[in-house]
Amino acid sequence: MIKRCPQHGFFRGELCTCGSAGQLLLDETKTEQLGRLVAGCLRHFPDDLGLTMDSRGWVDLTKLGQVVASRHRWANKELIVALVLSDPKQRYEIRDENVRARYGHSVAVELDHPENKLPLLYYGASEEEADRILEIGIKSASQRYVHLSTTAEKAWHVATFRTGNPRVIQADAAAAQKSGVKMMTVNDDIVISEMVPSQFLSILASKDIVRTEKQ
Ligand SMILES: [Zn+2]
Repeated sequence: MIKRCPQHGFFRGELCTCGSAGQLLLDETKTEQLGRLVAGCLRHFPDDLGLTMDSRGWVDLTKLGQVVASRHRWANKELIVALVLSDPKQRYEIRDENVRARYGHSVAVELDHPENKLPLLYYGASEEEADRILEIGIKSASQRYVHLSTTAEKAWHVATFRTGNPRVIQADAAAAQKSGVKMMTVNDDIVISEMVPSQFLSILASKDIVRTEKQ
């Protein structure tokens, strides 16, 4: 659910960090409905809904407000702002009356986030995926960019949602970037990247997964 604290603005869950119960804006169900629709609009099918997206992924916030209102009578632009600003995963951003997804696009975009500065990045995969990735590299059939994790433990955790026995692949980001692979920082957890060739990849032994987290 999304609430508003009079002092600290929008937040998710029952209580603001200050302890205030705040004012309820959207219940759990509507938060999910609005979240799915906004994700669809900003990541996957802006054209189908009559939205114009520029090459960096930006869409006019007022137009998006009209689109969500046409799908859900209770929805509006203000609730999109609340959804964006309260999102713990920082999936979206708002700038100059425009809004975009920060990552996760299946449509063609050329994002302009800051260049990644971390020398090593990580990717979680199943055992079979890991074998294939070490041969052909990290690429995605459906997404514009692949998502790398900033620590081995985070990569392992992401992969546990898909497989019971995750493997963690380490990417030599510094070398890959030097050779021209574009990698960009999205937030503390995620770096998005163009296809990562296999020559920059190696498998991480399970004993090393936790160790990288402590560095
Ligand atoms: Zn508060």
